[in-house]
Amino acid sequence: MSDRRPEFPFLIPDVPAPTEWIEIYQDAYSSGIFSNFGPLSRRLEAALAGKYAAAGYQAVACSSATLGLVAALMARFQPGSRIALPNFTFAATYQAIRMAGLVPVPVDIEADTMEIALASLREAANTTKIAGVVPVRPFGFVRDRGDLVAFCRERGMGVVFDSAACLGGQELPPFGSEMGEIEVFSLHATKSFGIGEGGVILCPASQADGIRKTLNFGFHQDRTYDVGINGKLDELHAAVALAQFRRIDEIQRSRAAHVAQYDAFFENIEGASTPTAVAAGSGWTMYPVVFENDSVERIGAAALALGLETRRYYWPTVTTGARGGVDSVVSVDVSEHVADHILCFPVYGGRAAEKVGGVFHALRQIFP
Ligand SMILES: *Cc1c(COP(=O)(O)O)cnc(C)c1O
Repeated sequence: MSDRRPEFPFLIPDVPAPTEWIEIYQDAYSSGIFSNFGPLSRRLEAALAGKYAAAGYQAVACSSATLGLVAALMARFQPGSRIALPNFTFAATYQAIRMAGLVPVPVDIEADTMEIALASLREAANTTKIAGVVPVRPFGFVRDRGDLVAFCRERGMGVVFDSAACLGGQELPPFGSEMGEIEVFSLHATKSFGIGEGGVILCPASQADGIRKTLNFGFHQDRTYDVGINGKLDELHAAVALAQFRRIDEIQRSRAAHVAQYDAFFENIEGASTPTAVAAGSGWTMYPVVFENDSVERIGAAALALGLETRRYYWPTVTTGARGGVDSVVSVDVSEHVADHILCFPVYGGRAAEKVGGVFHALRQIFP
């Protein structure tokens, strides 16, 4: 099995074909502007903000979610500040905090939503000085986190959401609110809105210039500079993203159909718990299931033998995965338990949707 690609790979990227973006890119080529927030980036930003952002918010295109998080964090926090993040997340959340010169402090999650548990965040904030929080919307699940944002506001803590996999259908509620929080999304090929590499930051209009400055080496008008990075999206990727923008609702609709079939299938499996309270239209890149009565190694091996590739996310956790060690101030037992019992299945949309039947054929053999 290991020497050939499984019949049902974990990820089948669905990026637009060159014929869909070559004409858009021709505009950039003719204008001779290839990066630095050029016309295609601006068009993309306007399209994304119009579709996904709350009133008063702007979009800032960037080269990846990781560097978008770094820029937003650099622009928002003093170096050396402690920033809380869920222990259950992808490596990039931790790494972005470190790259921004900040100190990651993992806190625990709620078992059902797999998102930061407010009680754990409160305990951490009562134990040590926490300047801000990077909540993660796990697996692209969009849920109302007004409770968390209100708590952070009350304590004077800044909020930068890692919403890497969230971009999706038109039913999504708008991102952002009057409270000033920032949301960062990925356009990586494996994400819901996939183009290759890229990202976008949705932020209150008043913060957009500061974040752009940080993404462009921290330069001020007079060429003096603050801390910064090169995190700009180039015009070629902006063209691909504009083409993907036309397809995203349809991609999302077909992925949601696969997800509905997973919901129905796992509902009948004893000890299997599936995602709850996910907003319609959320980006779906994979389908996570927590198995309380079964070993994820066994299920993963049985699936692979039938050509169905699965993966463990977010595993390892921050505390077990970051080799440099972390400043733990609260227990993270719930996230460790979830990480030990979770297995993710592929979600197919677009051209890959024809493989959905085969996935369930395999699953029926694993869970007879
Ligand atoms: C994919 C992902 C990232 C990184 O996004 P890039 O655009 O590849 O940098 C960050 N956080 C989470 C939760 C992710 O899933």
